[in-house]
Amino acid sequence: MSQPIKISKAGSQPGSVKWDQLIKQAIEVRENAYAPYSHYKVGAALQTTNGTVYTGCNVENASYSPSNCAERTAIFKAVSEGDRDFEVIAVVTIDGGTPCGLCRQVMREFAPNLTVIIGDVDGNYRVFSLPDLLPHSFGPENLEMAGGSE
Ligand SMILES: [Zn+2]
Repeated sequence: MSQPIKISKAGSQPGSVKWDQLIKQAIEVRENAYAPYSHYKVGAALQTTNGTVYTGCNVENASYSPSNCAERTAIFKAVSEGDRDFEVIAVVTIDGGTPCGLCRQVMREFAPNLTVIIGDVDGNYRVFSLPDLLPHSFGPENLEMAGGSE
């Protein structure tokens, strides 16, 4: 994996909602996580290019497979509201853990160059671009070349 482009405790992206605020929202929504099995609570705050923020938490299930990650909860909320232009997502865990492969692929579908802020509950964070987290990725354009896709 590539090195993060930034390691910081506080910072902001010029011309956009402050990253600190996005991280704060992720920390807050993390409290709603339903994680009775893993006890690994995750919060995500996804900002679209129009400035709207969709938050999400992980939602686990007794049969495990139906569990949904915080990142995908936030992304699916946005898509279901007709909002698909994503700019940045903040993901917060207890230890600054990175998004799972499934979530990286879902991010890739809508925002190949998404900025991904990965933070912990103390407000420490690292910033990656999605290609750093999911290099040589598969996407919709692969299907277009085969005559498929939308
Ligand atoms: Zn995930």
